Amino acid sequence: MVNQELIAKTAEKHDSFYLYDEAVIEERIHRLQQDFPGVYFLYSIKCNAHQELLKSVFSRSFGADAASAGEVDLAKKCGLSCNEIFYSAPGKSDDDLRTVMDDSIIIADSLGEIERIQKLAFESGRLCRIGVRLNPSFSMQDDIGSSSKFGIDEESFFAWAKSCPALPNIEIIGLHVHLQSQILEEDILGYYYDRMFALAERFYRLPGIRLEFLNLGSGMGIPYSLSDCELDTGRLGEIVNRRIESFCKVYSAVQVIIEVGRYVAGPAGIFVTKVMDKKVSRGKIYLILKNTLNGFIRPSLACLVGKYSDQDEPAGCEPLFTGLDAFQYEILKKSDSEDAESDVGPGASDTAPGAVDFVGMTSKKNDLFSDQVPLEKVTLVGNLCTSADVIAEDILLPTMVRGDLMIVKNAGSYAAVLSPMQFSSQEQPAEFFIRKKSR
Ligand SMILES: *Cc1c(COP(=O)(O)O)cnc(C)c1O
Repeated sequence: MVNQELIAKTAEKHDSFYLYDEAVIEERIHRLQQDFPGVYFLYSIKCNAHQELLKSVFSRSFGADAASAGEVDLAKKCGLSCNEIFYSAPGKSDDDLRTVMDDSIIIADSLGEIERIQKLAFESGRLCRIGVRLNPSFSMQDDIGSSSKFGIDEESFFAWAKSCPALPNIEIIGLHVHLQSQILEEDILGYYYDRMFALAERFYRLPGIRLEFLNLGSGMGIPYSLSDCELDTGRLGEIVNRRIESFCKVYSAVQVIIEVGRYVAGPAGIFVTKVMDKKVSRGKIYLILKNTLNGFIRPSLACLVGKYSDQDEPAGCEPLFTGLDAFQYEILKKSDSEDAESDVGPGASDTAPGAVDFVGMTSKKNDLFSDQVPLEKVTLVGNLCTSADVIAEDILLPTMVRGDLMIVKNAGSYAAVLSPMQFSSQEQPAEFFIRKKSR
């Protein structure tokens, strides 16, 4: 179990690290499988490809959403078969396509790609079962389609399919759409699923199509900001399960699929970073943390967006930016204070040894603090040789000293995987998968 004791113990050997909690992953997977009994779930590997985590997720009847040939290979190494791995990405190379042909169901992302798959399958004497990713004539929120680099515009695909192109080495067996991530309102997702079933019915009637799967994509979000509410999957299940049942009564051979990345892995992870130094420059107190921009880039990006945007709530751009107040910090004081340097700067006072629980925020809305402990105004920066490496400026935090720990939550998805580790040859944050104890 991930608790303060484990965090403190791990910090004896590591200055920055991730802990992933299998118990949380299991609980979230269980919830999804209970609330959507008719759905086959895929795990989106790109949000966290830690090997132990993959093994754990794929041992629980999840298939794989692979975003590269490399991810197809990771899923295959976890024992998944061709029919359990779905490879969807724009810009696949011929080499990618050749490599994965026997190991995954390729989701074609353009009409040109369908023709290339036909050619490659012909050359190797195969019959290739594929899906297609469409860019539908609706969005998550309304009935207007938009331009996208992903998928094939619905109307282009329908016109093309009706022209009955000769594709002797291809069977089109599935439809995939993914429009948006990080949605916390059940009604928006419910309405979106409704339109997906209607699209699937139109798709089914096209010549040359044998619909075996309908992949509804992702969208299930997690609370980041303290003002976010948890998505109610029980309620979403009530909205969508009846629709799935009636759809599957008519189209009994069709498997309904939902992809999730962050929903399963995000809340299972924390990122821990140590105060490596504390200094004062012209009255400003700096806490220098280990591997921030290069270990968990999202808080640094949120700070950057906040600096250059004059909006209170700039729109999200997943998975790089969710919102200005998307990160909560907890502080773990070093219990052994012998190394503590309390003589830096005004207001830097010694705090009693032992753990202090505290929640703070990086945002412009940094008004959240407890008045039980001494606070000081600090700027949180990382150890990279660039002044862009800042996660928060002038926020009030309990007094921290060298060796204290800062814990960032929701670090199980789009965290370690997004780190720009090639910059300045730093050591990477360690990653640990904490197995659930079997009873
Ligand atoms: C990234 C991605 C997902 C996962 O998104 P989450 O918000 O992490 O659930 C699902 N489907 C596709 C096609 C993706 O690219």
